[in-house]
Amino acid sequence: MATAKVVLTDYVWESLDIEKETLAGLAELVALKAKTPDEFLPDASDCDALLNTYAGPITAEAMARMPKCKIIARYGIGVDTIDLGAATEAGIIVTNNPTYCIDEVAEHAMALILALARKIVVYDRGVRAGAWDIAPGKPIFRLSGSTLGLIGFGHIGRQVALRARAFGMRIFFFDPAVGATVDGIDAKKADLSELLREADFISLHPPLVPATRRMINDDALRQVKPTAYLINCARGPIVDTDALVRALDADRIAGCALDTVDPEPLPDPHPLRGRENVIICPHVAWYSEQSLKALQAGAPAEVRRVLCGQWPVNVVNPAVKGKNRAGL
Ligand code: NAD
Repeated sequence: MATAKVVLTDYVWESLDIEKETLAGLAELVALKAKTPDEFLPDASDCDALLNTYAGPITAEAMARMPKCKIIARYGIGVDTIDLGAATEAGIIVTNNPTYCIDEVAEHAMALILALARKIVVYDRGVRAGAWDIAPGKPIFRLSGSTLGLIGFGHIGRQVALRARAFGMRIFFFDPAVGATVDGIDAKKADLSELLREADFISLHPPLVPATRRMINDDALRQVKPTAYLINCARGPIVDTDALVRALDADRIAGCALDTVDPEPLPDPHPLRGRENVIICPHVAWYSEQSLKALQAGAPAEVRRVLCGQWPVNVVNPAVKGKNRAGL
């Protein structure tokens, strides 16, 4: 079999041993640290497969410039870097890795909820600066009995709900694709306005799609309680950053904890930085030593399958079946 060419657009881990092992004997791996198609296309124009972490947007035009590419395998869960309709049209199979970090993101969201509720970061900053005082964290309200509003009730949202129930929180969820009840989870389906008005903590877990882009805007933030906190471990552009800054400036929201921001990385200086009531993490909710291994194994295995003539496991544009460049 002729050696195929697999281009890795970008990655944020140290070793590519798992990728090399998975593709051994089958493909040459060209690993880049690109941010945009213009940066990876010179190497990818003759690729048979593309591995993708964050670089994008991978549009119809970018796909047209990779005429041999049979599969774009995204390392993570969200596929917002890739125009799925254009991929289907072009006959390119797109895959993701839907389960590698569900526990990690749910743990991270819960950690942010606890840190906000108990003012952990505020107190730690104070102690580091020489203070030993309760006042800077006031007011603190008991988490038990408070209401958590989950926007997006899929794999991750449900795991956050289970953890939050163990802390005695009442759960509301908004998810147009989920029915009124979910087996084994004590949570109430709500419409978006009801959730925004009722929740003490609003945690975002939908994908980034046109319907969710900037869904947390001025209008949404005007509906939240001034004592409510926003948590975003999904995708930065789900929140209108300028609207969030306006709400924080006007004390229309108590604070927020953001693992994902728009843009990433967050510029320095930026109006979200340096606030006592804002916690920011550098898009790390997905990471643990276990999830990193599962992350690295997933996408290259999908590429291997396609290059060996097998239908991959986690296809996100199933309409491409029977009509793709791989002949599968
Ligand atoms: P999932 O597909 O299991 O669940 C997403 C849910 O959102 C689905 O139930 C869907 O019906 C719902 N949804 C779709 N449109 C909606 C809308 N307009 N309003 C409300 N809900 C809507 O995905 P998941 O595994 O739970 O992951 C959710 C998101 O988390 C991913 O798409 C990804 O962007 C993000 N993520 C972030 C990290 C990180 O490190 N911060 C890691 C993994 C995933």
